[in-house]
Amino acid sequence: MHPSYTSFLCPHCRLPLSVELTFHRNVDWEAIPGSPGVWRYRSLIPVPDKAEIISLNEGGTPLIRSRKVGDDLGMKELLIKFEGLNPTGSFKDRGMTVGVTLARYLGFKGIMVASTGNTSASAAAYAARASMKCVVVLPKGKVARGKLSQAILHGAVIIEVEGSFDDALKAVINASLESRELYPLNSFNPWRLEGQKTIAYEIYDQLGRVPDAVVVPVGNAGNISAIWKGFKELKEGGVIDALPRMYGVQAEGAAPLAKAWSAGESTLTPVESPETIATAIRIGKPINWVKALKAVKESGGAIVAVSDNEILNAQSALARFEGLGVEPASAAPLAGLRELLKSREIDRDEVTVIIATGHALKDPETAASHESPIFSAKSPSEAVEIIRGLVS
Ligand SMILES: *Cc1c(COP(=O)(O)O)cnc(C)c1O
Repeated sequence: MHPSYTSFLCPHCRLPLSVELTFHRNVDWEAIPGSPGVWRYRSLIPVPDKAEIISLNEGGTPLIRSRKVGDDLGMKELLIKFEGLNPTGSFKDRGMTVGVTLARYLGFKGIMVASTGNTSASAAAYAARASMKCVVVLPKGKVARGKLSQAILHGAVIIEVEGSFDDALKAVINASLESRELYPLNSFNPWRLEGQKTIAYEIYDQLGRVPDAVVVPVGNAGNISAIWKGFKELKEGGVIDALPRMYGVQAEGAAPLAKAWSAGESTLTPVESPETIATAIRIGKPINWVKALKAVKESGGAIVAVSDNEILNAQSALARFEGLGVEPASAAPLAGLRELLKSREIDRDEVTVIIATGHALKDPETAASHESPIFSAKSPSEAVEIIRGLVS
């Protein structure tokens, strides 16, 4: 067994390790073969050649040009990378296909994850695909219904733990130190991020250039780090010259990184009881916090916090002005973008991509909490009556 596939945390500082690619010569981007998706970039994803790829055709999600929201903000070019169209409805599939491929190759019996919801949905599906066992640890009562339903449907063993995601993650880290039966696939496992970095590759492929700014919701902070890594690799491989600025958006009730950033601190003060309607980013102690601060600092970006109300308004705007149904965490980047335009961090002329990380159906309760005119009719003729009233 190759040791680097099973060491995750630095033995000294306990922070997650990174995978580093070395480019001895330029990458011939034009020669990258195949149809859109994560595995199109296999030559840049360091899994062993002999590994059988466990895939559900993840990635290849659309980069959608805003028709109205961008105009309303006075922006020249706003684009939305709709990661909700992945096989299980979130970007987590990009990392899970790599993680489960490795777990199977390494001979593990199964996988385990802590999750605010989407990681468990994705892990359960990919484990099923690989005929492997899947154990998920969830914060009790805090997982959106769509996500929990997926974990159940795909047959995962579910452990609901009192506390927050951070407690669930602690359980998985400790269990992974004790036992080698189950491969841990949270984002402290740097191999998962090797799949997620393909978001950057795809944005470049679809846009034909590097955007000026990329805005990402931040929970455990793996994704923003992964996307930054992807762009940096394109530069190191001689494919691009410029890099985007990376912006992270947290929810006010779970914003340890935004606080550290605005205070100019390079330490993290965890939030003990994180709270927000955006359950996917309801995390008080982001394990990848050092990587995320580095991404934002190196790229010249920032991390901001937005309120739940601003998140709900952004969710509504994407749904009603663009036709895009995203879960609350995925609307946070648009809410953050409003702030970043106001503070002139991002200019209205700059090509900006927001990452819509997950689908609206993940959290049906919040989707249905928005106001809409609903009438009741006791009969078809009463319904006709109401329709007449609406069009007259
Ligand atoms: C996991 C997740 C996030 C947060 O990503 P991190 O890598 O934990 O920062 C944001 N939105 C959605 C929908 C997610 O599932």
